[in-house]
Amino acid sequence: MNAGTVKTGWNFHELYLWHDTGNAAAWFPPGLTIEPGEHAENPATKRRFKNLVEVSGLSDRLVRIDAGPVTEDDLALFHTREYIGRIRAMSDDRGGDASYLTPFGRGSFEIACLSAGGTFAMIDAVLSGRVNNGYALVRPPGHHAEQDRGLGFCLFGNVPVAILKARKIHGVERIATIDWDVHHGNGTQSAFYADPGVLTISVHQERLFPSDRGDRTERGEGAGEGFNLNIPLPPGSGHGAYMAAFEQVVLPALVRYKPELIVVPSGFDASAIDPFGRMMLHSDSYREMTRLLMEAADILCRGRLAMSHEGGYSASYVPYCGLAVLEQLSGIRTSVADPFLDVFRNYAGQALQAHQAAAISLASELAGSIPA
Ligand code: ZN
Repeated sequence: MNAGTVKTGWNFHELYLWHDTGNAAAWFPPGLTIEPGEHAENPATKRRFKNLVEVSGLSDRLVRIDAGPVTEDDLALFHTREYIGRIRAMSDDRGGDASYLTPFGRGSFEIACLSAGGTFAMIDAVLSGRVNNGYALVRPPGHHAEQDRGLGFCLFGNVPVAILKARKIHGVERIATIDWDVHHGNGTQSAFYADPGVLTISVHQERLFPSDRGDRTERGEGAGEGFNLNIPLPPGSGHGAYMAAFEQVVLPALVRYKPELIVVPSGFDASAIDPFGRMMLHSDSYREMTRLLMEAADILCRGRLAMSHEGGYSASYVPYCGLAVLEQLSGIRTSVADPFLDVFRNYAGQALQAHQAAAISLASELAGSIPA
């Protein structure tokens, strides 16, 4: 698809920023030996991302996709009724914790339903042809949430719930998810582990979080055997390693699977300045990964590509990574330059290293065994 002819959707809602993760030191609740501070998953990264998209002028040229909340029946396509009811009751009261280090405040249930709704609305807009591609800047994130518990700041699985709802409406039989958040997309993997209708791929820092998930040996089960692909990369991986992982594993896997839609759970915590990840990506890395996925989508599924925001904890840098993705999706280059780009691009070790190449080679063998 040519630049300028692409319609790119954009979803944001102020309420996403009102989800309250409370007081913490990074992610630990304060106590007598932990000084009160700011929770790492706070609104700043997303607010600043949205603000930069506006300041760049790009938001005026995107197609605004409004969304309503998903229903409890929609949530129940993935989550247990017991878990849904438990979160709603705590949210109606004073908030609580969705299981482990996933705090939320009053009203977060409704906001989480809106977050999944924003993701659904974007997928729906892409599948219905209203836009060619698009980005839902939602919060809270979703890719760690399991069927019966929240995890890693995620209450509900935005992408699984949205895909399952969209599948009922549009009848799509083959969807691929490419999760480039620095953490493993365990919730998305779990949702479709036995489902050959969704190929789940996660590129992440090896054994970062959850520390016991995301290995290459996790391939799916039953009818879904072979349709889950993990690409764990060593800490310190940079632009070269991610490009190699995309070219040698992600793209061949997509070509083999032939999806009708590509969905990206998009975190920017593999950036060089992220406080949680130990990777080295910069805005051009995200721009290039987007370009590669767009190329694949053009060939395989008429350009259908939808992204849903996940992690990313550098308030300074997430906006430039996000803008690069949106510029690439829309084919519109704004006049905003990434002030960090030359610094991060020149870090030693950005090129593919031998031990990274070895890890990617092992994952590429798995891509070839996806059932055709
Ligand atoms: Zn993450």
